[in-house]
Amino acid sequence: MPRKVETTILKVDQKIDTKKIRTAAKAIQEGKLVAFPTETVYGLGANALEEKAVSRIFEAKGRPADNPLIVHIAEEDSVNILAKHVPENAGKLMEKFWPGPMTLIMPRSDLVPGVTTANLDTVAIRMPSHPVARALIEEANLPIAAPSANLSGMPSPTSARHVLDDLSGRIEVVIDGGKTGYGVESTVIDLSESIPTILRPGPLPVEELSKILGEVKISSIARAETPEEISEAKSPGMKHEHYSPKSEVLVVEGTPKRVISKIQEMATKYDREEKKVGILATEETAEKYEVGTVKVVGKRRKPETVAENLFRILREFDDEGIDIILAEGLETAGIGLAIMNRLRKAAGYNIVRVA
Ligand code: AMP
Ligand code: MG
Repeated sequence: MPRKVETTILKVDQKIDTKKIRTAAKAIQEGKLVAFPTETVYGLGANALEEKAVSRIFEAKGRPADNPLIVHIAEEDSVNILAKHVPENAGKLMEKFWPGPMTLIMPRSDLVPGVTTANLDTVAIRMPSHPVARALIEEANLPIAAPSANLSGMPSPTSARHVLDDLSGRIEVVIDGGKTGYGVESTVIDLSESIPTILRPGPLPVEELSKILGEVKISSIARAETPEEISEAKSPGMKHEHYSPKSEVLVVEGTPKRVISKIQEMATKYDREEKKVGILATEETAEKYEVGTVKVVGKRRKPETVAENLFRILREFDDEGIDIILAEGLETAGIGLAIMNRLRKAAGYNIVRVA
């Protein structure tokens, strides 16, 4: 357990209160920890250039030291300070997709301490678009290292409530800016290799990136279909447990019709064993189920709505003491790849395929 600190909540609305941002920015400058909303999930920020401050992020989250952090910036120029050199195709991507949910991996400059990048010779950089995140970085006038603001292994936080549930008493400040936007973490692209490689799928779909980059590789970790290759992860942190609620999770994949009947069959079996069953369903399918606690995560027709609610629903099942969550699989097109990556990992690769 890290040393107990008092957690101050700073609530901001549409019209961002500059005084509160100044308070939070000052905390960053003093080496303290500040959780803040971004357009993806809440981040847990510290001065990226200050070893001591960054190591407190790992302590507060209980995060393994070999899982590197993303450095958040507010202007493009900062890339030149953080990266040893800027890869050729970075410019096009930054111009088109920054600010936004895209993280670029580049060779690390000597200014970035090893603790920030888990001693890798690369650094992950992102320029968020959320006005609160931007205001905080600008006011602090520092690059801010920030992983998701949850306890390591838990589903990422999409509201200040989630952050407090996990980190109250462990961090100095939470800026409450309401719900986040996309609800899943940024797309991570490694530009340090000859062929750009997606290490983590996110809100910015592979399809969009291919249009700019031409050839794009998707790492097996990003697909998350099997745990096999994980030990060879490019980013060592990727092998760690992720997004897991306390309840056991099973993902059922296949055509919707078969998925529904398989989940029904399994729910009935677990129910007979007196297990509390939760079903993570979609608007189009929810009414088909007869046993278990059914929750609608979003619309199949609009997978972005599933992304928005996914982590919240996983946390809700936990709060309700559900023993086993049966989750419907979705298609992996567009943001669907990010959703399925999170679900498969949450399930510890417990995937039932019915098609
Ligand atoms: P989080 O924000 O909690 O999702 O964690 C940041 C994630 O970014 C890590 O788990 C890695 O997958 C990825 N990442 C950060 N830095 C690097 C890097 N230098 N090389 C590869 N992946 C990275
Ligand atoms: Mg995380």
